[in-house]
Amino acid sequence: MELFKNDIGFAKQLDETDPLKKFREAFIIPERNGKEQIYFLGNSLGLQPKTVTAHLQQVLTQWSQWGVEGFTKGEQPWWYYHDQLTEPLARIVGALPHEIVVMNQLTVNLHLLMVSFYQPEGKRNKILCEAKAFPSDQYMLETHIKQRGLDPQEILVEVQPRSGEPTITHDDIIQAIEQHADSLALVLWGGVNYYTGQVFNMQAITQAAQKAGAKVGFDLAHATGNVPLQLHDWNVDFACWCSYKYLNSGPGAVGGSYIHERYHRDASLQRFAGWWGYERNAQFKMHKDFVPAPTAEGWQLSTPSPLLYAAHKASLKIFSQVNLQELFKKGQALSSYLIYLVRDINRQYNAPFIKIITPENEKGSQVSMLMLKKGKEIFDTLSLKGIFADWREPDVIRIAPAPFYNTFEEVYLFAEALAQACKQYSDV
Ligand SMILES: *Cc1c(COP(=O)(O)O)cnc(C)c1O
Repeated sequence: MELFKNDIGFAKQLDETDPLKKFREAFIIPERNGKEQIYFLGNSLGLQPKTVTAHLQQVLTQWSQWGVEGFTKGEQPWWYYHDQLTEPLARIVGALPHEIVVMNQLTVNLHLLMVSFYQPEGKRNKILCEAKAFPSDQYMLETHIKQRGLDPQEILVEVQPRSGEPTITHDDIIQAIEQHADSLALVLWGGVNYYTGQVFNMQAITQAAQKAGAKVGFDLAHATGNVPLQLHDWNVDFACWCSYKYLNSGPGAVGGSYIHERYHRDASLQRFAGWWGYERNAQFKMHKDFVPAPTAEGWQLSTPSPLLYAAHKASLKIFSQVNLQELFKKGQALSSYLIYLVRDINRQYNAPFIKIITPENEKGSQVSMLMLKKGKEIFDTLSLKGIFADWREPDVIRIAPAPFYNTFEEVYLFAEALAQACKQYSDV
């Protein structure tokens, strides 16, 4: 902790020596009255790369010049566009390019991969997941289980934090997997919890799940582009993510999935099929029987949108220019600095104002703060000062300084505004 100082000069110096500082230039920072705002919501919707417009325009131009022939003609034929996305994504999630497919959105992809990887057999039918997972994941699991004619109450095993604790301990996860080893069909877990920002040990969870004889999949919504991932080497079975959070690919961006290569030709897996998953060279022969592409692309269903591809590509190009280790390291340094400054605020009062619920040694960019007094008032005061943060009922403020475009100075200014707001409400 003595690494840091509560001092604007110190924060500016960290920015000065930041090897990634030039990347902020690549993004459009929201302004009000000509003043750049402090945007700490990259975990919700990442900011727009300046190059997005040109990439979208390229698709529109191709459409206007070639009509449907744009699939095979023009500067960037849409038919091959997917190939440009899989390499950079494979690098970000630690996979082989043919283990990546860019398609649909996150919840849709989870449903599709559940079709393949949730195969209940007799008493091996349970799904282990985190308590209080993101609501869409809970709805997905429940409705998917019911659709198989099973009862979610019996199937779902939720691992809870210990009483009074905000986060789940790893020992408890592994223990729950071992305890249910005879009945587990699937472990479906988040890479990073959306509420607490806790980063889970995906490798250890994968090992334990597979040892128990279960399949294992991860929802990487808050992990992809935020923390280091080695899906292939960790031997993960499947994973899905959205691309509008840390991947900066725009609202409703096209999502992505990873499927380990050992399943690509596995005819015993169930799957929902569509013509876009057909073996590529033969797709337009329009044969009657479905022959899936022998890669993750074999899970595609429908004609993709080149417009969504284009926004995604603009962002992935920026990722391709960065040293990922440096990126993740900066994300952690920003959040560590924030935690350090919040501690300093607490120190000024007999009873603390703020409890950090993000585990300090299991985090990425996000910091979640449980507000112990006047939380909503403090949050509103920060919003009025041009700070974009996230309020979660009943009393949590989530902050995610994104390493591509946020600075240590912004973290300092945020903490200064937070300290002032706390002071304002300290006597109330
Ligand atoms: C953001 C998020 C989602 C959103 O799903 P969409 O289908 O993209 O709307 C789902 N799960 C988690 C864990 C998330 O953080």
